Amino acid sequence: MNINLYSPIIDYRKIDSKRKKALQKLGLITIKDLIFYFPKRYDDFSTITSIKNLQIDTQSTVRGQIKSIENVITPRRKMRITKAIISDETGSITVIWFHQLYLKNYLNPGTYLTLNGKIERGYPHGLQIISPSFEKYHKDSIHSGRIVPIYSESAYLTSRWLRFIIKPLLNKIDRLNDWMPKYIIKKHQLIEINQALKAIHFPKDSNELRQAQKRLAFDEMFLLQLRAGSNKLAWQNNKSYSIKFDKKLIKYFVENLPFQLTNPQKISSWEILQDLTQKYPMNRLLQGDVGSGKTVVAAMAILQTISAGFQAALMAPTEILAKQHFQTLRKYFKNYPIKFALLSRSNAITNQNKISNSADIIKAIKSGRLDLAIGTHALIQEKIRFKNLALAIVDEQHRFGVKQREKLKKIGDSKNKAPHLLSMTATPIPRTLTLSIFGDLDVSIIDKMPPGRKKIITKLVAPYNRDKAYQFIRKQIVKGRQAFVVCPLIEESDKLGVKSAKAEYKRLNEKIFPDLKIGILHGRQKKEEKDQTMRDFINNKINLLVATAVIEVGVDIPNATIMIIEGADRFGLAQLHQFRGRVGRSDHQSYCLLFTDSESENTFYRLEAMTKISNGFKLAEIDLKLRGAGEIYGIRQSGLPDLQMASLTDLALIKTTRDESHFILAKDPKLNEHPLLKNKLKSFCSSIHFE
Ligand code: ADP
Ligand code: MG
Repeated sequence: MNINLYSPIIDYRKIDSKRKKALQKLGLITIKDLIFYFPKRYDDFSTITSIKNLQIDTQSTVRGQIKSIENVITPRRKMRITKAIISDETGSITVIWFHQLYLKNYLNPGTYLTLNGKIERGYPHGLQIISPSFEKYHKDSIHSGRIVPIYSESAYLTSRWLRFIIKPLLNKIDRLNDWMPKYIIKKHQLIEINQALKAIHFPKDSNELRQAQKRLAFDEMFLLQLRAGSNKLAWQNNKSYSIKFDKKLIKYFVENLPFQLTNPQKISSWEILQDLTQKYPMNRLLQGDVGSGKTVVAAMAILQTISAGFQAALMAPTEILAKQHFQTLRKYFKNYPIKFALLSRSNAITNQNKISNSADIIKAIKSGRLDLAIGTHALIQEKIRFKNLALAIVDEQHRFGVKQREKLKKIGDSKNKAPHLLSMTATPIPRTLTLSIFGDLDVSIIDKMPPGRKKIITKLVAPYNRDKAYQFIRKQIVKGRQAFVVCPLIEESDKLGVKSAKAEYKRLNEKIFPDLKIGILHGRQKKEEKDQTMRDFINNKINLLVATAVIEVGVDIPNATIMIIEGADRFGLAQLHQFRGRVGRSDHQSYCLLFTDSESENTFYRLEAMTKISNGFKLAEIDLKLRGAGEIYGIRQSGLPDLQMASLTDLALIKTTRDESHFILAKDPKLNEHPLLKNKLKSFCSSIHFE
């Protein structure tokens, strides 16, 4: 049969239905999918040691013939074990397996085996291996006597089976045309793609394996960079409104603020206001810890846009945050003739309290009578049209994906211009990540807090100090303060010992603080219920709020001064840092108390870092190194691509591939002169589950 890369695996060989399902579950449908299902690690069985030369306490591979095999009962403990004697030309060794009595029928005297395991002193003499991995030996062994690939396994897919099915594929496929330009291969001393694909599964030796890993990691990061680069170019290919920088206007605004801008606020505003002057749309990310003062920077961009005669939109992830923005901007724009409105499910008001139903507001946005619309992210979903939307600001979202940007273009106006786009986030994103996966964004960073903020005192509380901690919390609450308790789960699960919000709520409510008002907030509640609880907490009708990770980013509750985090080991450092940012927003001293049942050293190291470091970027960088990118922001909402080979922390690789991608895109922005690469990029983008 004529098989090509895109043939379904089942055309190539019969596969039983359980395995078929298991393959599908992993997204492995075609032969190409299998070839690109890279091993997650390797066992090196490539060096075979003569039995004579075996050393006690080493992990070794031996090859020999079964001389005898039998199931025996151990003299003292009366256990039934399988015992075999294996010999090569230089000697014999005893092999013992537990609980695998069937092996006696499967392995017969005379059979050749390759075994890998730890060499131990035998009883009463000689050497032995206990429960080694093993393989019947064939001349062209794919399972042992070499560097053996170990794949991510699932119930019906063992590495052994995957090796068995992948190996012949590698020889049968047509040679792939290499998509990597020749000069890049040469310049960076990469091996060619066919060799790399073969070697990543069945490397001849460790050197070839390293070469294959290098090539495939290069490919991945290079494609990631090309993707970011071409997205950026595509966005910048749009026309936008060139908004002149009005020095007088901005100077007046800044001079009349009740505070002085911090230096990074000044720099960020400058970068944004410069972007607005371009004829193509901005796509910038403004990063800064909670409380670092992003809103005032956004306000300056809005002011400049509106005073030039255009409209702006500001979107927040929740209604409460949208409302807070509305109130804040009301203060900032108190002395300006700016007309704006808050439009969300439960709110439809203007800053002059004139119009108060959403239909009127929508009309006023369309006619241009309103300058600014504030709402949730749903703003772009609604049937809203602007007269001349020139600036869209999205709060607490790392980025607006390609699809969302297209929507933004549509709600703008009919002149087919795209609005300038500013995303704001309090999530600290390490520099390596902004360069690799957020590479289509320009980035401004506010890495300094306004002066006068008290440092949040962070403590890792030992289990035996829990009661003391509760006494402390009670004292604070009696003084009028409020507290959060964050739990990793909503409900008790099988995972023993992990605190759930519901159980913790019950415990605190009934046993620890029966006299206090306790609230609960989690993702499975109705939106109205959540909003009500949040309002009660804002109004200090709730003393202590038990919540899961859903507690809203950015909400300003100055009276809350204690953040308690249960099962702290279960969160990434960046996430812990964000929780901590919920407190410390007033003159009162704030506290963050971390609890964990974990006794691992790694946990201790990470949580210690929390107590010592207050810079979110530093914490995120530490976590990226310790736990990998997917873990940083919680896997589900991470939006991070599932890379197989490249490391998102490899700054050298990021820089090299970034340069190469810029070089290509500068001359060939649509990759039309690199059809193979263009094609590869397309399939890569759909395979990494990005956005
Ligand atoms: P973010 O959105 O970055 O979390 P906000 O913009 O809400 O932070 O600002 C937090 C608080 O700090 C607000 O009350 C704001 O008025 C105040 N603020 C902002 N910039 C400064 C500054 N340079 N000096 C003093 N206070 C500031
Ligand atoms: Mg904010």
